[in-house]
Amino acid sequence: MHDFHYQDGSLYCEGVNLESLAKEHATPLYVYSSATIHSHYDRLDSSLEELDHQIEYAVKANSNLSILKLLAEKGSGFDIVSAGELYRVMAAGGDPAKCTFAGVGKTREEIKYALKHQIYAFNVESEAELRFIDEIASKMDLIAPVAIRVNPNVDAKTHKYISTGKSENKFGIEFEAVEALYESASHFTNIHLKGIQMHIGSQLTSVKPFIEAVEKVAPLAAKLKERHGIEFFSIGGGIGIVYDTSLDSGREDWWTHKKDEDRPLTVNQYAKEVVPRLKKLGLKILLEPGRFIVGNAGVLLSTCLYEKRGNAKTFKIVDAGMNDLIRPALYEGYHEIVPLKQNKSHSHAIVDVVGPICETGDFFCQDREVANFKPGDHIALMSCGAYGFTMASTYNSRPLAAEILVDQDQASVIRRRQTYEEMIDSEREAL
Ligand SMILES: *Cc1c(COP(=O)(O)O)cnc(C)c1O
Repeated sequence: MHDFHYQDGSLYCEGVNLESLAKEHATPLYVYSSATIHSHYDRLDSSLEELDHQIEYAVKANSNLSILKLLAEKGSGFDIVSAGELYRVMAAGGDPAKCTFAGVGKTREEIKYALKHQIYAFNVESEAELRFIDEIASKMDLIAPVAIRVNPNVDAKTHKYISTGKSENKFGIEFEAVEALYESASHFTNIHLKGIQMHIGSQLTSVKPFIEAVEKVAPLAAKLKERHGIEFFSIGGGIGIVYDTSLDSGREDWWTHKKDEDRPLTVNQYAKEVVPRLKKLGLKILLEPGRFIVGNAGVLLSTCLYEKRGNAKTFKIVDAGMNDLIRPALYEGYHEIVPLKQNKSHSHAIVDVVGPICETGDFFCQDREVANFKPGDHIALMSCGAYGFTMASTYNSRPLAAEILVDQDQASVIRRRQTYEEMIDSEREAL
């Protein structure tokens, strides 16, 4: 599931000792395992081998150029949500002809940019956007390849901030209105109706909502193929990962001790249910995984600065903050917290692990039993490969962290730590 493990009491990423990396490059520091990314991509890809399919990695999960390059070389396409992401994909050697462009608020400049670079398809989220794309394409004398994003009104049973497939969410077109929209779109002069798309949410840990959504939309996709000659059906991303692996406990049975409802979705389980329901459509199937590919492949290393014992709580204050990793503050994201060097006694304490930012929401865990690490000790926040660095900011004027990619026993700096000069570089004096 991932390539982080303890060896003689020290945490390793593949063959690289993380304590050494933390000392050499300082913290906060993101470290990614290329082996984990490869294996997750390969597992997903091979589980779909019975289908004519294309993986469209969701760039927003982790958009570092080296990660994109690694995936581009494996043949991945890319699901982008801005022209900036398309720029990144191309800079990393990715093929625009394998890019799908999602998002509810594409601007004129972004649409022009994507048309110019001949992306695979726009995933359109409203009738107004469809008309806008038609108008821009017509001015450029081009035909815009388009899929309409259907909102299947399925409850993904995930955190409400990352649920996208219900009627009350801003995403997609209501299921009941989709057919009529294809009908009217078929008369637009500069639109080519190429596919249909859906994405019901992120971090889904049960296969049921996927089944429900596929069963609801597949007949519609078949009809659209017949009527409008669409070529593809993108079933979105959203496959959940395990955030709690009990790595530090040495417990190998984390999988079996979990109750059924807590078990994450496995790729085999996903493919077993989804593939047969899609095979008979005879459409190309697109998948847009983000978290599944990179989530477990990254950690955020940090150093404990202080310990503060209050009447109500004990705080362990670390040098990473919500500006480096916002998931806990934003949507109650869970990250395992483990020491880079296990202490011999394995003593634990119930604490809040908090960052240095002047916000009450700046915590990584509350009232959690963690290893009783001390000031000066290094820790890892596990499973930070997705929606970690990409959501980082310089809030509190903290420079962006560095990023490292490990390949066996080699560690490459794939992003330098931002300097203070770079942080203020684009600011100018007012006239
Ligand atoms: C964010 C997003 C994804 C990826 O979601 P994951 O949960 O990371 O797999 C896929 N498709 C669309 C349209 C998205 O917005």
